[in-house]
Amino acid sequence: ADKENIFDLAVIGGGPGGYACAIRAAQLGMKVACIEKRTTLGGTCLNVGCIPSKALLQSSENYHALMHDFAGHGIEADSVKISIEKMQQRKASVVEANVKGVEFLFRKNNVTWIKGEGVIESQGRIRVEDRIIEASKIVIATGSESADLPGIKIDEVDIVTSTGALAFSEVPQRLAVIGGGVIGVELGSVWKRLGAEVTVIEYADHLINGYDGEIVTLFERLMKKQGMALKMSSRVIEIERKDNGLVLQVEHVKKGTYSEVTVDKVLVAVGRKAYTARLGLEKVGVVLDERGRIKTDAHFATSVPGLYAIGDVIAGPMLAHKASEEGVAVAEHLAGKPFHIDYNIIPAVIYTWPEVAFVGKTEEALKAAGQDYKVGKFPFTASGRARALGTTEGMVKILADAKTDQVLGVHILGPTASELIAEVTMAMAFDASSEDIASVCHAHPTLSEAVKEAALAVTGRAIHI
Ligand code: FAD
Repeated sequence: ADKENIFDLAVIGGGPGGYACAIRAAQLGMKVACIEKRTTLGGTCLNVGCIPSKALLQSSENYHALMHDFAGHGIEADSVKISIEKMQQRKASVVEANVKGVEFLFRKNNVTWIKGEGVIESQGRIRVEDRIIEASKIVIATGSESADLPGIKIDEVDIVTSTGALAFSEVPQRLAVIGGGVIGVELGSVWKRLGAEVTVIEYADHLINGYDGEIVTLFERLMKKQGMALKMSSRVIEIERKDNGLVLQVEHVKKGTYSEVTVDKVLVAVGRKAYTARLGLEKVGVVLDERGRIKTDAHFATSVPGLYAIGDVIAGPMLAHKASEEGVAVAEHLAGKPFHIDYNIIPAVIYTWPEVAFVGKTEEALKAAGQDYKVGKFPFTASGRARALGTTEGMVKILADAKTDQVLGVHILGPTASELIAEVTMAMAFDASSEDIASVCHAHPTLSEAVKEAALAVTGRAIHI
């Protein structure tokens, strides 16, 4: 092969896992190629995930605040107009700035971006269309794709995945969201705030599976208060196209009763699955786990020497920051350096308003593990800053070991929970006790005082409740 086709490392996939890996490996002195089949870098996250969803969440929040909250501040606006076209243009420009940013970082760090679909031909060889790339080390970072529902055909116009729901050109009058997980409630919130009637249909008994039970109860109450119709313990059996719209047949899985929901658009948000199609994995003998994800060891090595995998395509939470941590870690490892990821303290966030965030263990998990714990809670209704902000729903909840006082989990429902969670994640990384957090001076008035007060509440010393 020509010199320009030989690399120390080839990364397949330019998402947050792959691009972070490529950049770090180049910084460590490797000659790196990153193969991406999309026309832009950044993967799911930057193109059709985290970034565009947050752009639309912000726009819809602004609109909602103007329509519902500004009057309370004495600000009245006549003849408010909304242009979904402009909102979508803004979203596109936010995405563009981000993906161009990754392109710039590739140039800056001398990472070669190879455009096209990569197929692993054999150990150390990848075909990208009619080009053969050789690299003694290969990292697979091909991410994930939306899972589908049997019997329901996605057309990305009326029956859509998150990608279609990020691209609606007008507000659907009636929207059904199948799946009450993070993506479903975030995108449901976007269109709800912009005026859609939204019905969330969820198979489980509750929304946002995996979150702390007490927070889930508060969150469901909040979604209902915001006007979201919730059908729990329910599954969609079929969707029929009729004159008055798309008619969903819904079965209550506990009662065995049936109902109909008629809508204009359906968002199918029932989870995501590892993307391993057409990679040539069978040919080289890469072993997958029972859920179709690439099996890796503690050093991200697959069953084939020289072949590694990270991010959504392997086990673990399907989150952009988890993918990036792994991308950097595997680059360090390949350069012969130590790395460390603590999977117990990967924060998770839901970007509704208010937001939900947690890190560490839920109360249910601690109970199941038979661990003795103490709880400290502080409601945002008691926070001066939250009152000034006009968002007093929710609380900070800290779970600490009953004996050692080590913080085991923190759950926040409230304004800027996504930012507040960083402080406690940092504290947990240093094995902090609730006493440690409680003894740190927090600026007043800030929402972060609620974190300190919740830590004080673990030992019954909160001042403001
Ligand atoms: P991806 O980002 O999926 O990137 C994989 C890339 O590989 C893709 O660009 C794909 O085109 C490319 N590829 C695949 N096969 C090949 C091949 N054979 N050759 C070349 N290229 C290939 N996570 C968060 O942490 N926070 C959020 O707020 C958040 N919001 C989300 C909102 C939505 C609507 C969605 C869908 C996801 C969201 N996620 C969020 C999840 C996040 O996007 C993923 O966890 C993250 O993108 C995973 O990164 P990755 O690098 O593993 O894979």
